[in-house]
Amino acid sequence: MLYPGGVRALDDVSLTVRSGELLAIVGPSGSGKSTLLNIMGTLDRPTSGAVEIGGQDVTAYSDRRLSALRGRWLGFVFQQFHLTDGLSAAENVATGLLYAGVPRRRRRPLALEALARVGLAHRAGHLPNQLSGGEKQRVALARALVHTPALVLADEPTGALDSANGRAVLDLLTTLNREGATIAVITHDKDIAMRLPRQVEIRDGHLVADTHEGGQA
Ligand code: ADP
Repeated sequence: MLYPGGVRALDDVSLTVRSGELLAIVGPSGSGKSTLLNIMGTLDRPTSGAVEIGGQDVTAYSDRRLSALRGRWLGFVFQQFHLTDGLSAAENVATGLLYAGVPRRRRRPLALEALARVGLAHRAGHLPNQLSGGEKQRVALARALVHTPALVLADEPTGALDSANGRAVLDLLTTLNREGATIAVITHDKDIAMRLPRQVEIRDGHLVADTHEGGQA
């Protein structure tokens, strides 16, 4: 990935995420993690190379087709949660279904189910400002998973949390992965990365280590 101004943010990077995996993409600030996340999430296009999702080469898709693909097949979790203030927890989770082709009447029951999976059934009617940071991130996880995406991309999901809540969110990611979710966690924190089954290390735009490199297809 070459940015305007000649910054080569990713170079010769090849990464395969298999269905059912939970992996960390770890590296220091400026190493290219966000760039890789944006490319994996089809939010940005690589200058050269290809992106395949579910075996389909999506590199040449139009913006419109990509946004439809994101709505159906990808889920996003951000460091700062990005919940909508005026919406309840259940309504926030239901927004994860808006672009997934789920009929309106099915959205609330699915949102409540997803909240139950993250242990927040009892907070369904709460507004974001009535929730703790850890609870907000669990709502954001429910929103990212409610449409059963092929891949969840979590960008520093514990970065805004204290260590106890951070641990709880990591435990929850592990549980959700055991239940079938495929999750990539982007982090600068090696301790967090070490707690996940696979670590992919990025440095100066290169993948320098992958604990599953050459692993089974
Ligand atoms: P990380 O997420 O690991 O901190 P980034 O992917 O944000 O790393 O950045 C990788 C490199 O690309 C850095 O040198 C950064 O300054 C540069 N970079 C990131 N975004 C842009 C951009 N939009 N334009 C120019 N350079 C960028």
